[in-house]
Amino acid sequence: MALKSLNDLEKYIVLTEEEKDWKEDGGHTLPILISDHLTPLITNPAIRRQFVPSVKENKDTVGNLDPQMEKEYSVTPRLVKRYRNRAAFLVTDSCFAYCRHCFRRRFAGSMVGPATKKEIEEACSFLSDHNEIKEVLLTGGDMFTLSDTSLDYLLCSFKEARPDIIYRLCTRALTSNPDRFTQSLFEVIKKNSIGAPYYLMTQFNHPSEITEKAKSVIKEFVRLGIPIMNQTVLLRGVNDSVEVETELSNTLLSLRVKPYYLFQGDLVQGTAHLRVPLSKGIEIEKGMRESLSGLGLPQYTIDLPQGGGKVPVESRYNKGLIDGVWTFSTLDGEERHYPEDD
Ligand code: SF4
Repeated sequence: MALKSLNDLEKYIVLTEEEKDWKEDGGHTLPILISDHLTPLITNPAIRRQFVPSVKENKDTVGNLDPQMEKEYSVTPRLVKRYRNRAAFLVTDSCFAYCRHCFRRRFAGSMVGPATKKEIEEACSFLSDHNEIKEVLLTGGDMFTLSDTSLDYLLCSFKEARPDIIYRLCTRALTSNPDRFTQSLFEVIKKNSIGAPYYLMTQFNHPSEITEKAKSVIKEFVRLGIPIMNQTVLLRGVNDSVEVETELSNTLLSLRVKPYYLFQGDLVQGTAHLRVPLSKGIEIEKGMRESLSGLGLPQYTIDLPQGGGKVPVESRYNKGLIDGVWTFSTLDGEERHYPEDD
């Protein structure tokens, strides 16, 4: 049974005071949802910290619910275009489990449901008119919460509109619900991937998420010839050490998954207690660089506040730390600020 409340959680773990005091206020908190697959893993501290809420979420007033300004960058109700050459389509707000560090809290778990046919058509029409877009991220929420039939419709529609572009299938389901990847789902993916290159974008944040079931799903994607890229979020108390990050990268590489990004946490309200100070992240990246090959090293990246876009942390865009605040320049030369610690 999926866990949906503190009462449900108490059947499996003894909650701490901070966990017990969490309140679902409907404003900026995500609901609790922990999938059947994750339930037996909830005693693992790395999993618990990612999926069990804390009252610290309620008390956090730093940041806001949409630091990437996705609302402003929306060109149709579900299509976000922050960059010239790519766009993100928000397939659904539903996930198999809600991650407490989610950067899209304004949308995930908001009960708006899957994109309607009209919303899919609007996005496809925009893509047809904008040839400068070369990649579309199918994201959310988790696209694989859709039924096979709905997914087939979605993938067919996008391919018909733009058969010439790359699609990133963004999902956390290999961690939260690997059983979703049935043979019939793979048939849908296989059929639609012909002529429209797919990349599977996973989010494994800790080696313990790479279960035997997850490995089987990875193997099947590899067999289909679909490259797999992993995006890890750097999280306090979960993976904020060189040892854990190195083990994660080595495990992924051995399965033919490329560690792609290591993300600094966004300034999303409700997630401050999970963010790692940037200076510590830089130290971790340095340690990883010493222990991993270029193939195993993800790019330590920050998505700048106020829709500033992604830049590598260790790069000419980083102007340094003064009085506890980091200054970055965006790709367009604007300035953005990020606190060292909250
Ligand atoms: S699966 Fe993705 S969208 Fe859903 S809660 Fe986790 S990070 Fe957010």
